[in-house]
Amino acid sequence: MDVYDSVVIGAGQAGLSASYHLKRLGIAHVVLDAEPRAGGAWQHRWDSLTMDDVHGVADLPDGPAPGRSTDRANRAVPAWFGRYETEHGLPVRRPVRVSSVTGRDDLLEVRSDAGTWLARTLVNATGTWTRPFVPHYPGAETFAGEQLHTHDYPGPEHFRGRRVLVVGAGASAVQFLGELGPITDTLWVTRREPVWREDFDGREAVGQVLERVRAGLPPASVVSVTGLALRPQEQAAARLGVYDRRRPMFSRIEPGGVRWDDDARDPDESAYEPVDTILWATGFRPAVTHLAPLHLRSEHGGIPLLPGTADVQTAVTAARDPRVQLVGYGPSASTIGGNRAGRAAALAVRRHLTRELVRLE
Ligand code: FAD
Repeated sequence: MDVYDSVVIGAGQAGLSASYHLKRLGIAHVVLDAEPRAGGAWQHRWDSLTMDDVHGVADLPDGPAPGRSTDRANRAVPAWFGRYETEHGLPVRRPVRVSSVTGRDDLLEVRSDAGTWLARTLVNATGTWTRPFVPHYPGAETFAGEQLHTHDYPGPEHFRGRRVLVVGAGASAVQFLGELGPITDTLWVTRREPVWREDFDGREAVGQVLERVRAGLPPASVVSVTGLALRPQEQAAARLGVYDRRRPMFSRIEPGGVRWDDDARDPDESAYEPVDTILWATGFRPAVTHLAPLHLRSEHGGIPLLPGTADVQTAVTAARDPRVQLVGYGPSASTIGGNRAGRAAALAVRRHLTRELVRLE
């Protein structure tokens, strides 16, 4: 079996950036991606999300991103990724879903539903989309209405005329409320105060995510800490007071709605709200279960990374196994972060391979 200098898992922004830089450095590698088509997680974003709606998609190295437009993001970004893979001759194999990575002598064995690869190093770029997170609340299984996660958001028309409870304090919740507010009756609940962007410091926010990762804690989402802002397309909902109808998290779910056991904010207010639909905009977790055999996690549940060489988004090397780089993870979980991390990962791979060569001579 051939031995690759590196295997990249995932062909989203982070994996493509890593592959571009590995290729430039002359490092023999293959990119394994579970999707049948180019586009990473972007191909699964909801149809009503346009390039005007996205936070902003960073360029790939030597590959300018599509600009703002009314084009659907789930078409524009995948088409761009597809062209990029072809123009730069990136060695992407798909569909290949990796099931596990294990150590075999000095090598890493990457097993998948389409074969096994051996590699000296690994760049993991598997994102979060395949691991939607829904917090557990008592009674969730008794709810008679519909429960949906961001992952399965079908667009606003699906909800017309219903009473919808949106859960979560991130950008997705703000967008959903903006779309749903004018055509449904919405209620918004959040565990913590939403961070509005007036007093937002992007570097500090990403730095906070890195601190968690260094301490071996599970990473918080970068997009969740970059602060929220209401955009023109959310103003109609704002005028209707949609963003003011916010309450703390409920205590439990009942068949017809949600209940607060102790509403400290206003004891006179009803502690029960009937709802037809619960929309969980509660984020995602890193898709890294295939790395479990490498024992990269700390006792706190996260994968600690070594400090980066430049800014915080260049922290990519797993502290417990420097052969493994994680891009699009923790501080680099954004398009700009994935992009920078891809370069940092390729350089770290080269450093590791050079050290190994010296050791073997
Ligand atoms: P992905 O794009 O998720 O790509 C990962 C790839 O790995 C996928 O193709 C997947 O199929 C593949 N994969 C996963 N597991 C395996 C496996 N076991 N084997 C093989 N392949 C596998 N960031 C921004 O900067 N701007 C935004 O506007 C923005 N909007 C967002 C909106 C939403 C709803 C969400 C959830 C995130 C958003 N982000 C945004 C964050 C951003 O999308 C991601 O951080 C970034 O695009 C992720 O790129 P990635 O390469 O890490 O992962």
